[in-house]
Order: sequence, then structure tokens, then C-alpha cells
Amino acid sequence: MLEDLIWKEIERQNKELGLIPSENYASERVLKIMGTPLSNKYAEGYPGKRYYQGMKWIDEIENYAIEMAKRLFKVPYANVQPHAGAIANLAVYLAFLSPGDPLMGMALDAGGHLTHGSKVNFSGKLYQSIPYTVDPETELLDYDEIKKLALAHKPKLIIAGYSAYPRQVDFKAFREIADEVGAILLADISHISGLVVAGEHPHPYPYADVITTTTHKTLRGPRGAIILAKEEYGKAIDKAVFPGLQGGPLEHVIAAKAAAFEEAQTQAFKEYAKQVRKNAKAMEETFKDLGYRLVSDGTDTHLLLIDLRDKGINGKEAAVLLEKNGIIVNANSIPFDPNPPTKPSGIRLGSPAITTRGMGEAEAGYIVELIDQALQGKDVSQEVQELTQQFPVYEVERWKKIF
Ligand SMILES: *Cc1c(COP(=O)(O)O)cnc(C)c1O
Repeated sequence: MLEDLIWKEIERQNKELGLIPSENYASERVLKIMGTPLSNKYAEGYPGKRYYQGMKWIDEIENYAIEMAKRLFKVPYANVQPHAGAIANLAVYLAFLSPGDPLMGMALDAGGHLTHGSKVNFSGKLYQSIPYTVDPETELLDYDEIKKLALAHKPKLIIAGYSAYPRQVDFKAFREIADEVGAILLADISHISGLVVAGEHPHPYPYADVITTTTHKTLRGPRGAIILAKEEYGKAIDKAVFPGLQGGPLEHVIAAKAAAFEEAQTQAFKEYAKQVRKNAKAMEETFKDLGYRLVSDGTDTHLLLIDLRDKGINGKEAAVLLEKNGIIVNANSIPFDPNPPTKPSGIRLGSPAITTRGMGEAEAGYIVELIDQALQGKDVSQEVQELTQQFPVYEVERWKKIF
């Protein structure tokens, strides 16, 4: 029964057209490593400083993952233990802030993440949240406004990083703002880290003091996260992750992270990241040709945010309608959204997953045409099936045999 459900999900990933920009398909090697007996080993502490015996090989594996992370991101320090992006951010706050301290991040509805000070999240409950937003006209980051807000509230930590911002981030401008008020600058590059390591988005280092990223989005690794930083902050961050927040690290996932870091250093990955942006650009152009309004008028990255207000459908209805056709996107708020988060005005989609499948700009444009037809009430499920069959994700039959 359970195995049957797992197989059905693998088949769904193959059959449906995944366009959620935070999702990707990890390599078979990454997935295989996650399913090894490494999962059995308790490893509280850090390599060479563990609270358990039997650490000979696990220490080597974790050290290797740390080395690969440092080499990939060209930074002097890495912690590879955080179980998820939310935990990585929490660890950074624990390392640098006391409860009640002012924390400045982008508002959730403008494209920030829950962990950047949202009232429903620990980050908004534990710390004094100072949300910034985008310019109402251009929907771009307004560095002058962010600076004014920082000068008025003197945040101890500023976060540059987003879940639904389609444009390039100027980390140097954020550094200057952070320096003016003496704040720690955290770059949360969860969404864009794959683009960053491939040179397809400006690198936050050395402008940012600390960098967090998930490993499963454009980076295309296992589910999890890492923290990178300037050397001097390493000790405080290590202490915050363990024993501050977590117990035993997931060594099977850490080994899979190392495999993903190896893969992300290849020429093939550089070409992948370049194609991710080209495909997103092709989607932008087709959406515009078909008369859609894009938040910020387009994209520089892997991600697009579509404003559906003039289409007579809200984001949630659109996402449900698209799913009926085998197209998977997510409903998303747009900046200054007049509608509630349960029925937001937009949909968020992107190109990382279709690019991993091997699709190019022709397919990206075609997908947008299918989205447009589906939103007008036409059934395009047959066309979607034909397309996904041409670009399989995994060898479904082989996975079936494993069970
Ligand atoms: C996805 C994301 C996270 C959180 O990652 P989880 O692994 O889901 O906890 C944090 N910050 C940003 C900007 C993200 O996009």
C-alpha cells in the first residue's frame, strides 16, 4: 500500500508538468545516496568533536561536504547540517539576535519568505519585524527606501533574499545600507543559489556576512539547507545549529548535499543554469505576447509572477484549473495584493524543473500557450501528457522494481 502510493507520486512527477519555481528533480545519484544506511548513524556535534563513537567515515563524509560547499560558493566557512531553509535562518537569528531585537526583511506579500519576519512565523513572534517592500510603481527593490527604513529603525540584521521576487538583487547596495546602521547582512539565496554558483546571478559574497540557502531548489540537490559565512562568524553559527537548535544531523542527506555540490561544479550545470534563465525569458515573452501582466514586467531569474486581476480569475482558481490539465503552479500574492493570501491575485511559476527535464525555449513558450488556453477553459491535458512523455524525469519502471 505505502509502496504503491510512493510509486504513484513518482509517476505523477513524470506525467505532470511541474512549474513550481522552488521545485526541481534531484539526480538519481543524489536520491540513491539519501536512501543509504548513513541514515542510521547518530552524529551530534561536528567532525572531530562528536558526542558519539563510530565516527570515522561519517566525519570524512561531512568534512568532504563542507569542503565541497566552500569550493562551490567560494566562501571560507560552511555549515552543512541545517535540516531545512527555515531552520538555517532560525540558526542565523539565534547566533546574532536576542529576542525582541529588530530584524528587517521583505514583507511576505511583496516576495519575502515566512522566516523573514512574518507575524505567523517564529521570526515575527520572537523578533521585532521591520518589513520592507517593493516600489509600488516598478515593483522593484527601492534601495533608497530600504535605507531610509533602516536608518529609522536600526535593525540588527537585514535580510536580502526572496521567494517570489523575479529580479536581480544588488547585494552591494544592501552592504552599504547594512554598514550605515551597523547591521549584519544575511543573503538568503534559497531560490537562486543554482544561478549564483553558475554565474547567472551576482554573488552575495563578500558583501553578505552570512548566506543561507536551501539545497533543493535551483541548486538541484537533496531537501535541506546550508549556512555559509565569513570565517569570524563560523563559531557562533556552529553553536546555534548544534546544540542551539538541532540534535543529530542527517548524514545521509549531508552526503547527498556533497554529491549535489560536486554536480553543481560541472560545465553541464553551468549550461543548465544558463538554460534556466533562457527558458524563463521565453516564458516571459510568450506571456507578454498573449497579453498577461507580469509583476516587475518580467524576470531576470528562473521565476515569474503573473498578475491575473484583469483575467477574471484569482490565483487559487487558476492553479486548481491548471492542475486539472496536469500543469502544476502555485497561487501567490502579488505586491500590495488587494486579495487575501487564500485567494491571491497571482500565480508563481518558473523554469528550473522543465529545464532539468531537458526542455528548451521552444517548449517553454509552448507551455505558456497551453497555460493560456487552459485558463480560457480549453482542456489541454492531452497536449501536456504528450509533452511530458517526450521529456521523462525518472525511469519510472526502474523505481517500481526497487519496491
Ligand atoms: C524556500 C525558502 C526558505 C525555506 O526553506 P524550507 O526548506 O522550506 O524551510 C527560506 N528562505 C527562502 C527565501 C526560501 O525561498
